[in-house]
Amino acid sequence: MAAEYTPTTGTSRRRTVLKAAGLATLAATTVVGAGDGASARPGRGHGARPDDAYDVIVVGAGFAGVAAARAVRAQGMRTLLLEARDRIGGRTWTGTFAGELVEMGGAWVHPVHTKVWHEIRSHGIPLVADDTPPDRLILPSGSGYADFDLAVAGTRLGELLTSFFAGSDSYFPRPHEPLHRADLLAGPDRLTLRDRLDQLRLGPRDEAWLNGHTATAGGSNTRGAYTALVRQLALSGDLETYNGLNAYRPVTGMGGLINAMLADQPVTVRLDSPVAAITDTGARVHVDTRGGKRYTARSVVVAVPANVWNSISFRSGLPREFAAASTAGIAVPHAKKIWMKVRGDVGRFLAQGAESGAPLIGVVPHTTLSDGSRLMIGFSVDPAFDHTSTARVQAALRTFVPQAVVERIVSQDWGGDPYARGGWSFMRPLQLTRQLRTLQQPQGRLVFAGSDIASGWSGFVDGAIESGEHAGVLALEAATRRATPARV
Ligand SMILES: Cc1cc2nc3c(=O)[nH]c(=O)nc-3n(C[C@H](O)[C@H](O)[C@H](O)COP(=O)(O)OP(=O)(O)OC[C@H]3O[C@@H](n4cnc5c(N)ncnc54)[C@H](O)[C@@H]3O)c2cc1C
Repeated sequence: MAAEYTPTTGTSRRRTVLKAAGLATLAATTVVGAGDGASARPGRGHGARPDDAYDVIVVGAGFAGVAAARAVRAQGMRTLLLEARDRIGGRTWTGTFAGELVEMGGAWVHPVHTKVWHEIRSHGIPLVADDTPPDRLILPSGSGYADFDLAVAGTRLGELLTSFFAGSDSYFPRPHEPLHRADLLAGPDRLTLRDRLDQLRLGPRDEAWLNGHTATAGGSNTRGAYTALVRQLALSGDLETYNGLNAYRPVTGMGGLINAMLADQPVTVRLDSPVAAITDTGARVHVDTRGGKRYTARSVVVAVPANVWNSISFRSGLPREFAAASTAGIAVPHAKKIWMKVRGDVGRFLAQGAESGAPLIGVVPHTTLSDGSRLMIGFSVDPAFDHTSTARVQAALRTFVPQAVVERIVSQDWGGDPYARGGWSFMRPLQLTRQLRTLQQPQGRLVFAGSDIASGWSGFVDGAIESGEHAGVLALEAATRRATPARV
């Protein structure tokens, strides 16, 4: 990472950011203990137990884990939240770059994301609308890229998406219950995005305009499921909302929001505590960290990304769907987000690459800085793209704007991150109809949670909160259940 980038890792730096956001008092009420290391100190009060026994342990402090921990602690449960990293937030990560608050992961929210919207509103966090709508649109043209009129191209892109989704209106009549009409999904859920694109038999330009959009969402068109994008449209309600989801940001960044949520309840948090093994004895669950510490609870919420489930040893066994989903991955495997400080006036351009030949498949404008340079955000799903090289990033940006000069970058490869192994969730074919139901079921005293397996906004912060809150309810039930025969 570029030295200039200041991530909000650890307590002190997080407090600095929160102070700037006027939320320091909220942070002060949150109990944060260290983890496996020799410097470990116990959480102060509020449910920390000398015998390391808890009612509920939540593994993973992303939005799902924090929502789950808050829900069970609100019911008076002795609750422990274990997090592998030195920060909370998971696939959201707020920091600063070029003097601006930047998000290395999840960033935008929309009123249709009712859970996260409610959290932002109830914590009194102001929203900012992105103040730099594009004034240029760059899309594939022949063998290269060219500027297109925003209104004209926007209309054509809308027509293309309409044909892409044609006939799918009946698939998700209750968008937050994606399997409500599972009988209708047997055929469509087999389709990749590429299968659906091929059905449309588009001309070369239309194909290139549409396949970049779908490849960005799915990681690649041969990877992502057609139904995963149809779910997003059904949740959006209409194409205009679907196209406008990246509308607002909390002024505190996602870091301020998740800290505010955590401060709602005095949950004990242990950072730097990667979990290695989880054992359900039938009466209790043991959680062993890589550092050799054992914690015990009556139920456990596993709120780590599906792509890393296979890195934890579930000694009491799990249905085969878990290993299958983790091996194939639910989150996009090579998702990279790159912030670029671009010199000079290149315009507030929005660029959409075609599925191949554009290492930066999407570029959006963010801010114009006081020196006249621009902050731009690039997305890549290309496994071969060197996102750490300013020269390579500049070369990729010049695919769209040949005169662009990239001064500095900061980037995050979520696929290369051992505690994520992927970016935003986007299911593969048949993961919805053949696996999701099982993945959402409690397994003995274990309950899984996360945006990857949300019923609603999978792939968004909203889905993480929904799934975490639901897992909290299931974990409460499991914690109060009588002992069952051992699963080991
Ligand atoms: C580049 C990018 C852009 C995105 N843009 C948006 C957006 O604009 N809007 C939006 O709503 N969503 C967006 N998303 C999606 C959103 O960020 C995620 O859906 C959401 O943050 C996932 O939350 P989660 O709690 O399910 O998982 P995570 O945030 O991944 O949390 C899981 C936690 O588990 C921890 N963990 C992993 N392994 C272990 C272990 N062994 N022991 C203990 N802890 C462990 C991790 O460190 C992590 O903190 C984006 C994602 C990415 C990557």
